[in-house]
Amino acid sequence: MYDYQNELDKLKETDSYRRIPEITEKKEEYVIFDGKKLLNFSSNDYLNLSTNEDLAKEFITEFEQNPELQFSSASARLLSGTGRIYGDLEKLLAELFGKESALIFNTGYQCNLGVISTLMSKGDVIFSDKLNHASIIDGMKLSGAEFHRYKHLDYEHLEELLKKYRNDHKKALIISESVFSMDGDVADIAKLVELKNKYDTLLMIDDAHAFCSVDDNCAGMSEGLDVDIVTATFGKALGSFGAVAVSSKTIINFLINKARSFIFSTSIPPINIAWTKWLLTKKRDFINTQKHKLARLTIAVHKYMSSTDMKTVSESQIIPVVIGDDTKTVEVAEQLRKLGFFVLPIRPPTVPPNTSRLRLSLTANMEFESVRTLLDYVRNEI
Ligand code: PLP
Repeated sequence: MYDYQNELDKLKETDSYRRIPEITEKKEEYVIFDGKKLLNFSSNDYLNLSTNEDLAKEFITEFEQNPELQFSSASARLLSGTGRIYGDLEKLLAELFGKESALIFNTGYQCNLGVISTLMSKGDVIFSDKLNHASIIDGMKLSGAEFHRYKHLDYEHLEELLKKYRNDHKKALIISESVFSMDGDVADIAKLVELKNKYDTLLMIDDAHAFCSVDDNCAGMSEGLDVDIVTATFGKALGSFGAVAVSSKTIINFLINKARSFIFSTSIPPINIAWTKWLLTKKRDFINTQKHKLARLTIAVHKYMSSTDMKTVSESQIIPVVIGDDTKTVEVAEQLRKLGFFVLPIRPPTVPPNTSRLRLSLTANMEFESVRTLLDYVRNEI
């Protein structure tokens, strides 16, 4: 048999070996790890909704008598894994994003994979921001289309590539995240729209980290802009699970007919669809309150960082602190745990070589003082 253990040992030698952290409990902005309560900077639960006990109790009470409260859909949507509630949520999402139609996928990963590999194929060309998420890269590879990655947020470079490669291909697609998952900086979507019109391409925006966290009214970051396809996940700020693609009726129907990650997978359990819909319909005020808390904290942290020598490219609640060296990054993260902070080191291949970092995710319930204590410690270490 092939020596997989040897490959794993090599990962250990370069400090690149991954382990699933032993978290025993999660409660809003905290995790219990190794028996200790730590402030959780490694979560995408930006509004602290997913473990809010009051919300969960209210939801369960409301839905107790409801037949929609099933824990499995037991089939793919195109078989019998569907129901009124799925269509209701899709209608709501299409309205929120100001698009004709929406399609729920099981995860953001499956959504990006499905959308890209279905809309594009051999003979087409894709232009993708260099820091786009793995699901986008995998979708491009699976599509069979030629693809070019432009330098992160460098739209001059994108235009050079468009000039060079666009005309040799049938269809073309530009893809960018809105708020970037690792650097927390933000794409210039209006500029991307200008380029897509100039070079006759489709434009897809992944709102995974913006949806219900930094956008207005959970409408994504492309509100009012001519973006062809938006994808967003429910597993981050919304504190749920699943994802959506919103677009024209034709494109959504095309996905229903051809997207293999949609067609050949058991759909999300109804209970979870109900939770997502309930949050978006009944808990919008609470979502807005949490969003404002997060926005205030984010501004305070950015302001504090710019008053020190800690520069950051971030424009959002995601704040990378690049340390560079893999081993040092792991050491600092371990020290932070002793001080009461749960921060995971992010290393290649998740980020480019020599940019190992701590990725700080601010969440709505955190106090500024705690974040400042963490930043002061890290500043002294790097
Ligand atoms: N897109 C981006 C930008 C992400 O950061 C992620 C998750 O980390 C995904 C898509 C995948 O979403 P999900 O976790 O719902 O599969």
